[in-house]
Amino acid sequence: MHPQSHTVAPGDANPVFEEWGGRFGVPAFDRIRPEHFRPAFAHAFAAHTTEVAAIANNAAAPSFANTIAALEQSGDALSRTVNVFNLLAGAHNNDEILAIEREVAPLKAKHWDSIHMDAALFGRIERLYRARDQLALSAEERRVLERYYLKFVRAGAALDTVAKARLADINARLATLGTTFSQNVLADEQSYTLLLDGEEDLAGLPDFVRAAARAAAEERGFPGKHLITTSRSSVEPFLQFSARRDLREKAFRAWIARGGSGGATDNKPIIAKMVALRGERARLLGYPSFAHYRLDDTMAKTPEAVGSLLDRVWAPARRRASADRDALQALLQAEGKNFQLAPWDWRYYAEKLRKLRCDIDEATIKPYLQLEQIIAGAFYTAKRLFGLSFEPCADVPVWHPEVRVWEVRDAAGCHRGLFFGDYFARPSKHSGAWMTTLRDQEKLSGDIYPLVVNVMNFSKARAGEPTLLSFDDAKTLFHEFGHALHGLLSDVTYPLIAGTSVLQDWSELPSQLYEHWLERPELLRRFARHYRTGEPIPEDQLRRLVAARTFNQGQATVEYVASALIDLEIHLQRGTDQAFDVAAFEQAALARIGMPAEIVMRHRPVHFQHIFAGSGYAAAYYSYMWSEVLDADAFAAFEEVGDVFDAAAAKKLHDHVYAAGGSRDPAELYTAFRGRLPTPDGLLKRRGLSEAVGQPSE
Ligand SMILES: [Zn+2]
Repeated sequence: MHPQSHTVAPGDANPVFEEWGGRFGVPAFDRIRPEHFRPAFAHAFAAHTTEVAAIANNAAAPSFANTIAALEQSGDALSRTVNVFNLLAGAHNNDEILAIEREVAPLKAKHWDSIHMDAALFGRIERLYRARDQLALSAEERRVLERYYLKFVRAGAALDTVAKARLADINARLATLGTTFSQNVLADEQSYTLLLDGEEDLAGLPDFVRAAARAAAEERGFPGKHLITTSRSSVEPFLQFSARRDLREKAFRAWIARGGSGGATDNKPIIAKMVALRGERARLLGYPSFAHYRLDDTMAKTPEAVGSLLDRVWAPARRRASADRDALQALLQAEGKNFQLAPWDWRYYAEKLRKLRCDIDEATIKPYLQLEQIIAGAFYTAKRLFGLSFEPCADVPVWHPEVRVWEVRDAAGCHRGLFFGDYFARPSKHSGAWMTTLRDQEKLSGDIYPLVVNVMNFSKARAGEPTLLSFDDAKTLFHEFGHALHGLLSDVTYPLIAGTSVLQDWSELPSQLYEHWLERPELLRRFARHYRTGEPIPEDQLRRLVAARTFNQGQATVEYVASALIDLEIHLQRGTDQAFDVAAFEQAALARIGMPAEIVMRHRPVHFQHIFAGSGYAAAYYSYMWSEVLDADAFAAFEEVGDVFDAAAAKKLHDHVYAAGGSRDPAELYTAFRGRLPTPDGLLKRRGLSEAVGQPSE
């Protein structure tokens, strides 16, 4: 099958982790082949284990240098291997790479578990931590030491043997329950289908919804028919466009019942077990609840801070939603209908209202958004704000011929790293868009400059034609480029806190903030030009783009905040009630916050995968909104002085956000940048929630 493939012995020269000799120290992508990865991982795990053991068993008394700095300098082969492998697994994979990915995932988890549970190693870290005031550490060193200590403690390193065993047992059981939870949702989504029979059932559906429904029917063995499923991508457009109220109701009811309709796939008992286990884990680690445990290592820090943010947004969102509901009710009555607006009607009438207020025709916008010009706009913004310049850079090995490379220099002309752009969709790439690095900035082992990558999935134009983007695509490009700048501008000493290695509710600030510049007329007039005529985008289209941003945000915010509040409240449970009744809990909580009858939570607990299929966003669903509070408030620093490129604001933004990595507590960094902590006013304004009630959100 693979005529060229041969095995590589662990001792052989291996381009994955050997010194990267390409120009600027780029990995030798021209020589790396899938068969290099198994021996590379084997070597890298073993080498790291040996290095860590030497640190843990050092006969000398622990010092910052022989313990923390030494840990920071260990694992070079492992980080090289992981970085190259992750890049290829995401951006240019094949069956062999994907098989290795499945094989390596549990090995990686085991490797890190054994380091975090190493009692001798933790003993040294703990001694340093206790003596931290006497060690004459720099602020950054102190932060790195504190992060190490916290990381080990949160993983259970400080527990006795019995508690460690119980923690490991809890983690394993939670992992299994999380998988079952998500498979139950999937099973419910797969078992329900709404078959649409004939033109009558298709009333109102535009071509793209019909095409997707036809493909779904075909896939499930009903060729020539149309079918709606309860996955969000199928049911949401149906609810938005279907003129058949009875069918909308059917689909909606099935959609919100996923994971909670009793029987073998019911997630209610799974949730009860998970809430109990998470509570027990938190108590083992010394926290009153899982929410306290989870939030302790975030910018928000406490459940009270999260609750107060959500409360501040809740009331204005509910007012906006109730004004929008009245507008939708009036619209349906103007059509001669006389029913009360129900949850399955909202999206349908909101779509009609959107068409009236701020319709945007993608087809008329696209010719103004050329990929090359949007890249140029992202670079221009970085030049105006931070003095960076980007020069195309040849002779650097890349993983695919379409990948482009730029050398990044600062205002003084000094080299700051390389930026790789991999923009087009292809079968070997995962969907979505992301930023990653091949190497992070640091100064511990000399001046190490970062190698930063943006991966996108734009559809490539035909040869000779420019690639045109939707406005959402252009926003994605700016978003990921904001993450890239966080990596490129990083100016710290220790790898642990370099670039984007920051707390979860801080990590989206540099990216979401960067999107604001794209939406500015200063940028759009210059870079959104018609690819044939060179004309700037018409002012009327610009206005509609801005109006679309605040449309229907009352409902969207109510849906979201309700889910975030319930996530928080569920995880404030101590978890001692083995028979936790999530259905009753949900009902009582919604009644308490006054959930509008026409709106349902964006995710009901029984299918809330963000918080129960794995723990990614458990007690942290708020963080999407937290980031939005930060980016809106941060951009206001420029709006307030009337110049979106204001040099003084840009300098502070550079020093305390983009260059700072995780070198200080995010609340301190933000205060240094803005002179105060963020307020949600900017978010309310941006979402159109701060105007007087009753005015249209235009
Ligand atoms: Zn992001």
